[in-house]
This record gives sequence, structure tokens and C-alpha cells, in this order.
Amino acid sequence: MRSNGVDIGSLIRLGLQIARSVEAHEDKLASIAREQTSRNEAEHMRQRAIAESKALEQRKLAEQIAKESVAISCQGCGAHLAIRKSSISFCAYCGSAIRVDAEGKATILSPEARKAVIERAQQQKDQTEGNT
Ligand SMILES: [Zn+2]
Repeated sequence: MRSNGVDIGSLIRLGLQIARSVEAHEDKLASIAREQTSRNEAEHMRQRAIAESKALEQRKLAEQIAKESVAISCQGCGAHLAIRKSSISFCAYCGSAIRVDAEGKATILSPEARKAVIERAQQQKDQTEGNT
């Protein structure tokens, strides 16, 4: 059967080909969407694992700091402070420099020693900033 010189059979075959190719294209899009979804889920799980391990890390660090800190009264103003062992801290209230040794014994630094600590910290800060 012919109509205006066009074979109806060819038209039908062409129509079927188009339908099949649209179907194949839709399948491909669906499979891309599925891949994307599983990638998103994997990424989501990865992010969660990272967040959980960071939280654990912070808890451990907080516990360690608590274990290594000692509660002392500032010898300058009497404020209650928590200072890490084997470190020098400044009282947030009066600015006294307090050294806590490895055993947790606190000693207030002399004004000269305090000044030296500040100068040393300032030098380290300048060096760090000078590198940038
Ligand atoms: Zn103080």
C-alpha cells in the first residue's frame, strides 16, 4: 500500500524504531538517576562517618584535657581556674601567669618571668606571621 509515494510499512517501521529508541533513552536516564541516588547515599554515609569520627575525636580530646587539667585557685586574685599540667596559663581575671608542673603543682610567675613568657609568645607569633 502506497500513499503519496511513501511506503506505509516503512513509516510503521520508522515509528517503531523511534519508539524503541525513546524507550532505550528513558531506561538510560532511569539508570543514571539510580546511579546518582546511590552515589548520593554513599556520599551521605561518608559524611556521616566523618562527622561521627570528628565528634569522637573531640570527646576524647575534651576528656584528655579534663584528665590533664588541675583545678587551682589563682594566687593573684583567687579565681578558680582549670589549667593543663605542664603548661603556663594566664588568669582570665587578673592576668597572672601561672605555671602548672607535671604533678599539678601551681606556681605564680614573677613579673619578669611573666614578661619573658609574653615576649617569647609574641616572637613566635611574629615568626609565624612573617612566613605568610
Ligand atoms: Zn587571677
